[in-house]
Amino acid sequence: MRMSRMFGKTLRQEPAEAELASHRLMLRAGMIYQVSSGVYSYMPLALRALRKIERIIREEIDAAGGQEVQMSALQPQELWDESGRSAAMGSELFKLRDRRERPLVLAPTHEELLTYMVKANVNSYRDLPLIIYQIQTKFRDEPRPRGGLIRVREFDMKDAYSFDVDAAGLDASYEAMAQAYRNIFSRCGLQTIEVEADSGAIGGKDSSEFILVADAGEDTIMLCPSADYAANAEKAVFVKPQQDAEPLLPLEEAHTPGVKTIDELCEYLDVPASKTLKAVFYVASGELLFVVIRGDLEVNEVKLSNALGGAPDLRLATPEEVRARGIAAGSASPVHLDGVKVIADDSVDMGSNFVAGANKDDYHLRNANHHRDFEADIVADIALAQEGYACQSCGAALTVRRGIEVGHIFKLGTRYSDVLDAHYPDENGAAHPIQMGCYGIGVGRLLGAAIEQNHDERGIALPAGIAPYDVSLVALNMQNDSVASAAEALYGELLDAGVDVLLDDRNESAGVKFNDADLIGLPIRLVVSLRNIREDVVEVKRRSSPDAESVAASEVVARVKAMLAG
Ligand SMILES: [Zn+2]
Repeated sequence: MRMSRMFGKTLRQEPAEAELASHRLMLRAGMIYQVSSGVYSYMPLALRALRKIERIIREEIDAAGGQEVQMSALQPQELWDESGRSAAMGSELFKLRDRRERPLVLAPTHEELLTYMVKANVNSYRDLPLIIYQIQTKFRDEPRPRGGLIRVREFDMKDAYSFDVDAAGLDASYEAMAQAYRNIFSRCGLQTIEVEADSGAIGGKDSSEFILVADAGEDTIMLCPSADYAANAEKAVFVKPQQDAEPLLPLEEAHTPGVKTIDELCEYLDVPASKTLKAVFYVASGELLFVVIRGDLEVNEVKLSNALGGAPDLRLATPEEVRARGIAAGSASPVHLDGVKVIADDSVDMGSNFVAGANKDDYHLRNANHHRDFEADIVADIALAQEGYACQSCGAALTVRRGIEVGHIFKLGTRYSDVLDAHYPDENGAAHPIQMGCYGIGVGRLLGAAIEQNHDERGIALPAGIAPYDVSLVALNMQNDSVASAAEALYGELLDAGVDVLLDDRNESAGVKFNDADLIGLPIRLVVSLRNIREDVVEVKRRSSPDAESVAASEVVARVKAMLAG
């Protein structure tokens, strides 16, 4: 490709609204065009990188036994009503009506439709197992689109689904897909960590995420240094610090003028936070929830939602909503509380004689004890893992990494086959539900995340396997005939050798060309100039290295091929 003809211009200026480096750099490199909030068109440079990622994905999923299909994005809403996900996904599901007022959705994922397609095509246990996949455009009405391609409302995804006769078959399909994912990310040249994950709205049992390590990522992962445990912080469990057992003391009131927070309470009464109970108020489905947790811990909203059996609209309550129920927010107590559902972290049973609120301004209670003084409606682990907490496998202190989720695999089991009635007959004709798994990779997000992981202050530096081209061929002073003919000759030789090359043949200064080469950041940069021609050399430089070397003109193509192969 010749840059003089390329659709898409590089920008000198920093785009004002872009916070993430990948977003900023993709706009500056002319890779993406913003259509509206969270909706982008891909320009040629982005599409080339995406096609390379897709090719790696196809090869690995095919090798794992996948068969590619393409399913419709436009679907009758009935499909989603039947599985219960119209409600579960809430306002993230794009809904529309056709000219006959029939309700439709723009699909954010394809479990429902594919389950119907499998029902229509699986007549016997002999038709299983199946792994079906597609690379296709999906829609999700994100409340907060952000970060360029990282969180968008229209996105490309590789989604795969496995169908097996039993749980052992599902285990095998799941492991084959997990291995395909490891291969994909490794061939893309990207550093990812596989972690235990929460299943969220999709439902199901086991699930793992592949997190691309990047400081700007919005996912927090907890890692054990002994490598025996890694989990998304949404799901991570840990050993909660235990307290010595004490005989239960009588409940008594303590005067605590002006004390509202746990910190103030600990200081005023000289007790550690782990000897207090903290109240946090949430609202789900219009109902006020009293959440109580030991004062040294924080609430994990994903675990809380799961403890409630799934609460997609869970949110913190406003002070007005708390006051409206006659509760003193700074001194709220589960003791003597009527008509409000109480959800307790299991840490309330790890210790005794806690300081809790008194439901009365300026007073607290000493020696509050679960079961004796209050009874929670639900007790579950709803605590957020934090750096330094003990690993449940080995006790070592957990560390925190930031990252971006680029792949997610789930064992769905019979979650969809039960509700959508997807059964197969065994040898004796007896019907059994099909065991399902689902496996996603956000392809556009993977490109954004790859840039998040691979860039510097000068621009993008994608790994060779997924960069839009392999080589920037920079010709300095194209108006000079000998430069033009040397550059054209080398361009032709590289193309003949099967190297993807971007020739900068524009009438721009050396400074502009070098800046753009660094910004687009192809793995190898070649420079053809008058001086190099006189010495019969070409300057060769890796994007990742500060140093250039001079290579004899006759050996350049072989050198480039060797560098790309290495
Ligand atoms: Zn450990």
